[in-house]
Amino acid sequence: MNKLATYFKTFSLWELLQGLGLTFRTGVQAKPTIQYPVEKAPQSPRFRGLHALRRYPNGEERCIACKLCEAVCPALAITIDSEEREDGTRRTTRYEIDLFKCIYCGFCEEACPVDSIVETDIHEYHFELAGQQIMTKDKLLAIGDKFEDRISEAKAADAPYR
Ligand code: SF4
Ligand code: SF4
Repeated sequence: MNKLATYFKTFSLWELLQGLGLTFRTGVQAKPTIQYPVEKAPQSPRFRGLHALRRYPNGEERCIACKLCEAVCPALAITIDSEEREDGTRRTTRYEIDLFKCIYCGFCEEACPVDSIVETDIHEYHFELAGQQIMTKDKLLAIGDKFEDRISEAKAADAPYR
């Protein structure tokens, strides 16, 4: 019986017909290609894009200069200097991320105890001049200020899965 089936498959070009069937089924399915940038694919709330530093609603920066993000960064992309303020709290005087070194692993965000450094869903950016890849504290805070709504929305969407 097995021999008969083998003969049948050989002379009917069964594998070829199977292949043609797959081609036909794929041909009539909806096309997975999207017309970027007019159309965009859905993004996970955990997407790891451009970094930002966040503030509390009262405007105070969240970062307490604990340097956990700097210590955990496998690419040594983060540089932090800090000092004590007059009120006894500690804040960064320099916070820089070199995006050419960064591998977008998200460890800095995971390590941060106060949800200060985050990776946003922003992935459409570029640099034109040498040095622009260094994200300074001012630049990171500005991104955080501008996109705080999007950042907190993504955090809230991801919270049930943590
Ligand atoms: S995403 Fe990873 S590599 Fe990039 S700064 Fe954060 S810890 Fe470093
Ligand atoms: S961003 Fe977070 S982990 Fe990094 S120094 Fe500031 S508080 Fe610490």
